[in-house]
Amino acid sequence: MEFLFPHQEYRKIQEAFMNQVYTTIQNKGQLLVHAPTGIGKTASALSPALTYIIKENKNKTIFFLTSRNTQHLIAIETLKKIKKKYNIELITVDLIGKKGMCNQSGVQMLRSGEFMEYCKDLREKGQCQYYDNLRLKGKVSPEAVNVLKKLKEESPMHVEEMNSINFNADLCSYEMAAFLGKEAQVIIADYNYMLNAHIRDGLLKRINKSLGDCILIFDEGHNIPTRARDLLTAMLSNFIIEAASKETKTLGYNEIGDDILKIKEVLEKLAKKIPLDKQEVLITKEDFRKELEKIANYEELMGNCVFIADQVLEHKKRSFTQSIAGFLEHWLGPDEGFTRILSRSFSKTGKGVLTIAYRCLDPAITLQELMTGAHAVMMMSGTLTPIEMYADLFGVNKDKAITIEYQNPFPQENRLNIIIPETSTKYTTRTAMMWETIAKKSADITNTIPGNSIIFFPSYYVLEQVYDFFRDKSTKTMFIEDSELSKEQRGDLLERFKEYKDRGAILLAVAGGSFAEGVDLPGDLLKCVIVVGLPLAKPDLETQELINYYDKRFARGWDYGYTIPALIKTLQSAGRCIRSETDRGVVIFMDERYVWQNYKKCFSPDMNIRIEKNPLTLIQKFFEQEDLLKTNP
Ligand code: SF4
Repeated sequence: MEFLFPHQEYRKIQEAFMNQVYTTIQNKGQLLVHAPTGIGKTASALSPALTYIIKENKNKTIFFLTSRNTQHLIAIETLKKIKKKYNIELITVDLIGKKGMCNQSGVQMLRSGEFMEYCKDLREKGQCQYYDNLRLKGKVSPEAVNVLKKLKEESPMHVEEMNSINFNADLCSYEMAAFLGKEAQVIIADYNYMLNAHIRDGLLKRINKSLGDCILIFDEGHNIPTRARDLLTAMLSNFIIEAASKETKTLGYNEIGDDILKIKEVLEKLAKKIPLDKQEVLITKEDFRKELEKIANYEELMGNCVFIADQVLEHKKRSFTQSIAGFLEHWLGPDEGFTRILSRSFSKTGKGVLTIAYRCLDPAITLQELMTGAHAVMMMSGTLTPIEMYADLFGVNKDKAITIEYQNPFPQENRLNIIIPETSTKYTTRTAMMWETIAKKSADITNTIPGNSIIFFPSYYVLEQVYDFFRDKSTKTMFIEDSELSKEQRGDLLERFKEYKDRGAILLAVAGGSFAEGVDLPGDLLKCVIVVGLPLAKPDLETQELINYYDKRFARGWDYGYTIPALIKTLQSAGRCIRSETDRGVVIFMDERYVWQNYKKCFSPDMNIRIEKNPLTLIQKFFEQEDLLKTNP
């Protein structure tokens, strides 16, 4: 089969991948693919999908869905190459959040829900000139028609390029993207555009498509479970309640404001159930409802909050009362697949915070409609393993779903994976002596590495403890991840880190943090990754509830709810090191638990992991070989 492939030729593994994608689309199926980094997943998924719609079914639209905007870049570049190579008409849309495509100033400070209300409000009142410029006398305006023509001709283009063209013409870029979407063969967008039913329905309506017209490709699919659960989760804190009460009273509705403030008393009363030695407790739908009914009629209060929120949004961009209304509505949702938790914590200023949450435990609830309604659904990732867990969590149709795990095709001699089972970050072993041992081992290794290294820690706390000893033992320049860094600051830090590729620097970061995923350091920009400890989730009530729920549904509670998600974070962090066929590097897993069977079984056999207490000689030899290869290629 000939595919519209962007590169000169394809490897065997890519051919197999593409054939599978094509067959899945033909059969309206579901496909889960675990494929190591560097295989060329984006091209291997987009090429056959595009070939299918051009050859067999022009009415379908491909949605390439990502968890981060940075993943859009490679998809657009791939499509640009395909268009150039085959000289075909190719219309694509690069969609990010509506807020990121909005021309209005000051919208970045709004949370997404608030922004949507703000935008709706401006449009309805005819106060957004960029929206109004789109139409003239009920038709698409001549200016918009001209710009649309240009967008089609220059497609595929990155969202920044599209925004710039639209902003220069004083047109709403999001609306223009929706116009273009009607004719697009490929739409590249965040998961939310499909996972969130409300956003999905809105988008599909605008582009005159039904879910059955959509071929869905989820990239970095290991992120789907968390994103899908978060979408159905709702929370409320005493801060929001206080702000909503104040907001309501400012409008002169003192009685409603008092009722809202009493929700805080309800939380305080329920908080008495929190055991003295704990910070959280499970509560039932009725616990909260009954207490609330003592101060006001539940539905009436919810209606009053909607009424106030509508008024607030007439002159403001955000409404706290709207958050209350949303929470009260969610709270009445189903019990199966959800849990309800009241927790106590402290703000940065030391003020007590009570938070009540209705948390989703089951990603399949969010995915159900997509799985049954879309033409075909494909999920792929370099860490979609164990794949049977993802099949369970996604709620795939086991009769028609296909799961495939591709082995790493790159030369084994290019990577050295080592477990050092000498230390641990378990709570019971957290002593100054342990931090010093970890620091010494990490410094010995990174001082030996002829280039850059990243050390990933399970938390900022562990990072700080180890750093206190590490800074005196390391001979290299250090960069440290900070949870408060902005996107620009992170980008800047990474660029400076790259400059040290010859002298060698060390980045201290957190597994699951912003440098552990979506960061590409190919070639000789990164020579070593050390993953210190296991990035296990906090053993809190939510984790416990996840374990219980997965135990009940799949009899795999601890695996699905606790150990495997931690291992996925470890593997994602480790994955920063080898990004292509020619990359060489060392990955160290530094914790005694990595040799335990329940963790070790998650490492794929092709990783060829060694267990070494003193790996320095091994590492030196590995890099000596590299020098030899350079002198005698
Ligand atoms: S219509 Fe467009 S430009 Fe206007 S507020 Fe909404 S997103 Fe922003």
